[in-house]
Amino acid sequence: MKTQIFTTDRQDIAKAANIIKEGGIVAFPTETVYGLGANAMDADAVAKIYEAKGRPSDNPMIVHISRASDIGQLTRMLSPDIVAIIENFWPGPLTIIVKKRPEVPDKTTGGLDTVAVRMPDSKAALDLITFAGCPIAAPSANLSGSPSPTRAKDVVADMDGRIDGIIEGEDCRVGIESTVLDLTGDVPTILRPGIITAESIEAAIGKEVKYDESLTEDAKHIQLDPAAGVSESDFQPKSPGMKYKHYAPKAQMIVVEGERNKVKAEIERLKVLNERIGNKVGVILFEEKAFLEAAHNFFANLRDLDGEGVDLILAGALSDTDGVGFAVMNRMLKSAGYNIVRV
Ligand code: AMP
Ligand code: MG
Repeated sequence: MKTQIFTTDRQDIAKAANIIKEGGIVAFPTETVYGLGANAMDADAVAKIYEAKGRPSDNPMIVHISRASDIGQLTRMLSPDIVAIIENFWPGPLTIIVKKRPEVPDKTTGGLDTVAVRMPDSKAALDLITFAGCPIAAPSANLSGSPSPTRAKDVVADMDGRIDGIIEGEDCRVGIESTVLDLTGDVPTILRPGIITAESIEAAIGKEVKYDESLTEDAKHIQLDPAAGVSESDFQPKSPGMKYKHYAPKAQMIVVEGERNKVKAEIERLKVLNERIGNKVGVILFEEKAFLEAAHNFFANLRDLDGEGVDLILAGALSDTDGVGFAVMNRMLKSAGYNIVRV
C-alpha cells in the first residue's frame, strides 16, 4: 500500500479527512501521542486499524471528537460528573468511559457496552475530525507492543506502507497517552494514569477518584521494599493484561529503583559490567522531579536508543506515587516487562 504523506496545512488535512470519509485509515498528531484514525461509526474502517497495528481485536479504541456536544452521537446520558469533567478538561489529555449508544459498532469498543471518548487539544487533530464529519476512533499509531509514537518519524517507521496516510505534525507535547477515567461505576476510576491526575479530577468534581486496582498492584512492584523480606514471586503481575509486553523497546530493559545516588551508582556499575562483555548500553535517567519532561521524552528516548542499536537500556525509576511521575512509571515498568533492580 502506498502511504500518502500530508502536512498540517488545511488543504492537506482536508485530503486526509476525505480518506477517512471514504473508509480509509490515517495517522495524525495529537497532544498526547500520534493516533491512527478511522471513522468510529464504520466497523469495516475500524477493522483496518486492528490489522495495520496487529492489535488484538478485544482491545477497545478511544473515539475522538472535535466539539464536546458531539458526545451525543456516542452516548445517551450526561451525568453531572461527565459535564463537570468535560467543562474542566476538554480539549485535553483526559479520556472518559461512558455507556455507548447502540449505533457505536462493537468493533470500535471491543464488544463492550461502553465507549471511550476524548476531545484532543491539537489543532491538526481537531481540524481532521471536523473535516471528516465523524467521530474518529484512534489508538496510538504504533505497531502493537512497541513504544507509542510521539514524533512523525516514529509513525513513518512503524506504519509506512501499512496505512493510507500520515499527517506529519509537531512532536507531541505531552508524550504519554491520555488519562483514562471510567465514569460508569459508583466511584470514578482511573484505568490508565496520565498527566491529568486523580487529585486534579477530584478537585473538579468534588468527590473521590480512585485508581484501578491493577494500577496500584503495578505500583507495588516499585514500592515494596526487598529489605523487608518480600520475595521476587510477590512481584508477579496479578491481572492478565499485565502479562503482555507493552511499549517494549527492541533492547532488553532494566528499571533501577531506589535512592537517587544509589540508582546512579548501580546504573553505572551495570553499564560497565555489560559493556565489558560487549553489550551496547543506553541509559535513561531523568532530572529529579521533572515529571512532565520525563513524560515528554520517555517514548522518544526508547525509540532513539533502539535506533542506535543498543542491547540493553538501564532506566532510573521516578519517585512519584500518584502524580505525573506515576503515569510515566506505569509506562516504564511495562516497557521493561517488570524487570526491576532495587538498590
Ligand atoms: P490506545 O488506543 O492504545 O491509547 O488505548 C486505549 C486505552 O483505552 C486502552 O487501554 C483501552 O483498554 C482503554 N479503553 C478504551 N475503551 C474502553 C472501554 N470502553 N472500557 C475500558 N477501557 C477502554
Ligand atoms: Mg497504544
